[in-house]
Amino acid sequence: MSTECAHLDSVEIVDLPDEVAGCEECLAEGMQWVHLRMCQSCGHIGCCDNSVGKHATGHYEATGHPIIRSAEPGEDWSWCYVDELMFRLRGERPG
Ligand SMILES: [Zn+2]
Ligand SMILES: [Zn+2]
Ligand SMILES: [Zn+2]
Repeated sequence: MSTECAHLDSVEIVDLPDEVAGCEECLAEGMQWVHLRMCQSCGHIGCCDNSVGKHATGHYEATGHPIIRSAEPGEDWSWCYVDELMFRLRGERPG
């Protein structure tokens, strides 16, 4: 089991966009989601595994982009699907 994520090179986007409309696939299909996740390689917004669509995981399986972060207010954790590790890319955030 890894203790360190080996995929940090794939991270292109650390911060969330100013506005997150919602899960892209759920919006397109008129579905509802529970929590939102952002792909840190390309910025895709998808929904969590508690959501019906599981579109964040679907995006990883379709693209191989390994790292997502929470797109929920006040949450800044990231998750690597390959290593199954949770971590933070930033220590302290002002505000
Ligand atoms: Zn990793
Ligand atoms: Zn979704
Ligand atoms: Zn992606």
